[in-house]
Amino acid sequence: MDKVSYRNFMLEAYQQMLLCEKNLSPKVGAVLVLDGVIVAKGYKTKESHAERLVIESALNHSIDLSRTILFTTLEPCVSIKQNQKRQPCSDLIIQSNIKNVYIGSYDDHPNVYRKGWKALKENGILLNDFDDDIRIEIEKSNSTFIEHFSKGIGPKGGAKLFHKDGAKFEIQFSENDKRTMNIEWTLAGINAAYCYAVKPITCANALYAKTFDDIDNPAVFKGSYSARVEVDEIGIFSGPEAFILVKPKEIKSGPDYGDDEYYVNFEYEVRLKNI
Ligand SMILES: [Zn+2]
Repeated sequence: MDKVSYRNFMLEAYQQMLLCEKNLSPKVGAVLVLDGVIVAKGYKTKESHAERLVIESALNHSIDLSRTILFTTLEPCVSIKQNQKRQPCSDLIIQSNIKNVYIGSYDDHPNVYRKGWKALKENGILLNDFDDDIRIEIEKSNSTFIEHFSKGIGPKGGAKLFHKDGAKFEIQFSENDKRTMNIEWTLAGINAAYCYAVKPITCANALYAKTFDDIDNPAVFKGSYSARVEVDEIGIFSGPEAFILVKPKEIKSGPDYGDDEYYVNFEYEVRLKNI
């Protein structure tokens, strides 16, 4: 196959990706190529991943998968939880005996970033990347997915963060108030996390408060550069323009999340300072 046809397959995978339902994120498209001809194409739906769709379609047509090349706009998923019900696409690809995969972009989710690539690589699959310009278009089309992990909008909201080395989360005060403040979580053992502050922001544990409504004036809590907060406790970030109250509902770390990886699911509330 020549370079031009490879490009066409990348572009076709990208076109497939654009067919995904609007609110689906991330969007993924895939094509399977045999002897220079597309033999299956598909895009992610609520029911199935794009890679699974094209592999199943090829199997239904008795295509010899070991001779095919897979083009997928996103690195194939891996299993991140034990007892996961559905077989991840990376396992399916390995099992199918596909020997060459072209990857359009890498999962921005820190918990799975590059893990699809690694799983395939370790099983001897030849891996290539899409052309830069096509990758950039793919990333642009999935940018809401990327932002989902790093940004939120007040005055009230919730977020699920997957962290590696302590992740920043940016909160916009409200739809109409475009000012923002960054908060940060770092790992503090089982069911706990540190609120972590960078000057001039400080943070505190709003000891004994159980709900945001329990806190009349967030300024009463003495802040420092970090505060340990357990699940169902409340942390307070104090910035020059606002307080951000945070309440972790779920904090996980350990083997499922990697030794240095963890997950925080929290609610937040922005309280503006009258300055
Ligand atoms: Zn998948």
